[in-house]
Amino acid sequence: TVSAESQPFQAEVAELLHLMVHSVYSETDIFLRELISNASDACDKLRYEAIARPELITDGAPPEIRIVPDKKADTLSVVDTGIGMDRQELIDNLGTIARSGTKSFLSKLTEAKDGANLIGQFGVGFYAAFMVADRIVVTSRRAGSDDVWVWSSEGGSGFEIAPASEEAAKRVARGTEIMLHLKKDAAKYLEAYEIERIVREYSDNIQFPILLVPEEGEPRQINSASALWQRSKSDLKPEDYKQAYQQIAGAFDEPAMTLHYRAEGRQSYAVLLFAPSTKPFDLFQVERKGKVKLYVRRVFIADDAELLPAYLRFIRGVIDSEDLPLNISREMLQNNPQLAQIRKAVTTRVINELETLGDKDQDAFTKIWDAFGPVIKEGLYEDFERRDKLLALSRFTTTAGEKRSLKQYVDDLKPNQTEVYYLVGDTIERLKSNPKLESARARGVEVLLLTDPVDAFWTSAPLEFGGKPLKSLSQGDVDFGLIPLTDDKAETKDEREADAATTIAVIKDALGERVSDVRASQRLTASASCLVAGGDARDRALERLLAQQNR
Ligand code: ADP
Ligand code: MG
Repeated sequence: TVSAESQPFQAEVAELLHLMVHSVYSETDIFLRELISNASDACDKLRYEAIARPELITDGAPPEIRIVPDKKADTLSVVDTGIGMDRQELIDNLGTIARSGTKSFLSKLTEAKDGANLIGQFGVGFYAAFMVADRIVVTSRRAGSDDVWVWSSEGGSGFEIAPASEEAAKRVARGTEIMLHLKKDAAKYLEAYEIERIVREYSDNIQFPILLVPEEGEPRQINSASALWQRSKSDLKPEDYKQAYQQIAGAFDEPAMTLHYRAEGRQSYAVLLFAPSTKPFDLFQVERKGKVKLYVRRVFIADDAELLPAYLRFIRGVIDSEDLPLNISREMLQNNPQLAQIRKAVTTRVINELETLGDKDQDAFTKIWDAFGPVIKEGLYEDFERRDKLLALSRFTTTAGEKRSLKQYVDDLKPNQTEVYYLVGDTIERLKSNPKLESARARGVEVLLLTDPVDAFWTSAPLEFGGKPLKSLSQGDVDFGLIPLTDDKAETKDEREADAATTIAVIKDALGERVSDVRASQRLTASASCLVAGGDARDRALERLLAQQNR
């Protein structure tokens, strides 16, 4: 026989647990939501693997989740008949944190005075259970396996892993049993009505049946277990959508946008998508992976099928196809023409919906733009086809105000103004004191002030909006010639030109080969001179960004 073996937690896990155990966070209810969501994921994974190996499901109970309170033992168990974990999976999944955002989340948690609130806002998965339990015992059998393993921990610096006793192995025929030895002050979670209340609040739309197994009497189902996206819009209330969003996205905020529809025709599929109202910690992870889940006829297939372009990777939700083959492999997803069609159609719908929101619900749109604007702007250089639409969606800080759209800009053009002007830089403050703005200011011409790193990229291609070219004030010649001055202290055109010719000769002489040309310009009114890039040269801000990245 193999005996128990102790293993340390990964440093981040130990740190997180320390925070959990000592947190004063009062909304401890969420632990149950986290465990149920993991159980539901495990049932999804089982159904997916059973497409190729049907015996995995037919050999035992159907995928379901049981909640078992035991007042005599002071334990609460969450049991699923899902995919289960083998020994290595128990060690890897419950001893380390794989989620890429968690590290930055942890540092925020440690910094913030209200760290406790962040726990509620973002969730901490399995480890949330240590808020209510002082000992957790996980017994698991991977589907199709003869081995059953037990992981146990008191939440300190490590855990134990051991083979299950014969009795425990018999109890767990497939899947995972998570037994919480409840802390004294968490005894309320043994009450049936408490459990029902929490499940109704957080987990009602979990697709698999959740059964409450009372100490006396028959188990009974306490959730509605429907795939919400398959239901008709008219049956659903905003509350239902909020819960579905939080469940599907593992989020705690309100959705700022909800898009629910069914496409019929050449292809049939249901779409339920959301835009979060707050920024997750892993938004800028390098892989730029989307999180929309692909289902085929109610069966979960993949959550990394790239159902939307990367610049919409903040959108969460589900697309459920009626036509794709169930046994589609994850590799085949990449080149599937039906899926490409769905992707195209849904992308257009999402962008149209964002546009409508921008017109009808400024508040909601602003939340999305503030959190994800820099991501959406990646589309300006990646999605040529939709560039105009994305430009119309974009909002800018300009010399005339905040959250300005290009439509507003173009509506407010000065007489004789034929171009849209912008300036790229590090901060709004520094841009506002940039001498390159002076001439525009003297004419009351609005200038877009672009400070996101991504701005240097999309502006490097020629662009126009409503027939008006976009033009950088730090590049080539800017001719404000016909736009009248609004500042009457400025000198007349003739005076200026006469002065300029002599001045230029002197400067050219002094600088010699170090510059390609010296020109008089209408860019400045109060400063004497500035350095600019040539008309075809790279924008100076882009040059700096590229230099930073060693390209
Ligand atoms: P997340 O669910 O975001 O991945 P968690 O901390 O909730 O993070 O869970 C960590 C991992 O542990 C899961 O990704 C999964 O691989 C594994 N896991 C947790 N609970 C179960 C379960 N009931 N059945 C199978 N695997 C599980
Ligand atoms: Mg989880």
